[in-house]
Amino acid sequence: MSLLAAMMDPEPVEAFFPMIRLAIIPGDGIGPEVMQGVYPLLEWAQNRGRKLEWIAFPYGAEHFLRTGESLSDAHFCALRDGFDAILFGAVGDPRIPDGRHAEQLLLRLRQELELHVNHRPCEPFLDAHVPLKGVRAAEIHIDVFRENTEGPYCMRGFTEADRAVDEAVHTSKAVRILLKAAFEWASRRGCPLTLAHKANVLKHGHGLWMRIFEELREQFPKVTARGMHADALLCNLVQNPRGFGVIAADNFVGDLVSDLLAGFQGGMGMAPSASWAPHRPFRCSALFEPVHGSAPDIAGKGLANPLGMILSTALCFRHMGWLEEAEIIVHLVATTLAEGAGTRDIGGTLMCRELQGLVCDRLISSCA
Ligand code: ATP
Repeated sequence: MSLLAAMMDPEPVEAFFPMIRLAIIPGDGIGPEVMQGVYPLLEWAQNRGRKLEWIAFPYGAEHFLRTGESLSDAHFCALRDGFDAILFGAVGDPRIPDGRHAEQLLLRLRQELELHVNHRPCEPFLDAHVPLKGVRAAEIHIDVFRENTEGPYCMRGFTEADRAVDEAVHTSKAVRILLKAAFEWASRRGCPLTLAHKANVLKHGHGLWMRIFEELREQFPKVTARGMHADALLCNLVQNPRGFGVIAADNFVGDLVSDLLAGFQGGMGMAPSASWAPHRPFRCSALFEPVHGSAPDIAGKGLANPLGMILSTALCFRHMGWLEEAEIIVHLVATTLAEGAGTRDIGGTLMCRELQGLVCDRLISSCA
């Protein structure tokens, strides 16, 4: 069974591996704060009989400034060979403005673990979180499939005195893996698939995307699939998000689309993501992180919304085939929000720790 099949129709992972090993990387900024809400979820799953263990690693800006490297080759190999998945907080620190430590850490993990598929689901919980006139939360269900390793986000290029060049490389291997995953997801959901592109101007890179999209369209005749210029798609999304099911895009466009969709979910702090490698065997082929970055403006103030990280952990459990645990977490987040609890970014009054405590206490008492 391919990993993507396992994701969509998951069978408990114990069928393959007796013990799941998770690497925890809290990272920078609000990463460590939001990660605090994950440990009780792992303990709870363990108490329910799930065989898992975890180790936290200190990679991030502090580690980089202290040691001069983000992730040594030996540490990378230890992560790759010794763990089944990674739970990641955030990376980015104003003391390293060129972001090279992030490149050596998160980009390296995504690229070398070949995590081409970045799934960013958007299913808002509350009508009040949706800022669009007349649109209810239940009417929006969009899965963004973003290619995670290529395009203009690869930090390749150069700067000269009077010009600067950013390279954007797209390979047929990565594009095919991403698009196939998106077609399979749309097929299982029975929903339309939209490719967001700018092939009219990015003739080479997005031209390749269009060609592979057309190829796959023939292999998935039951999926209603269309291409749409990314700029027009953003306008359409705001005017009528109901018409969208799965949206596939390259790294750059996918990032823009999914941040817009985070705005439909209440804000950056609410959105989870899962990255995986459908073409690789199971071991260390998935990483779960919130859509938001390290948000240095609020780091250390206790203001971070922890729900994007908590929901990313639910995606991790789902990935392991622990469907009941994943559903319980999502349900408790929903009921907590429905009762008006929240951090300031979503109109509440709670601090990060208080909201984590509320969700985790409910989790523990729900199973008592
Ligand atoms: P990246 O490029 O890594 O995604 P970014 O510069 O786009 O980072 P984020 O770190 O995601 O930015 O943050 C953008 C803004 O959103 C922050 O300044 C912060 O105010 C808000 N924000 C992000 N995450 C959260 C959160 N978990 N809770 C509350 N506000 C958040």
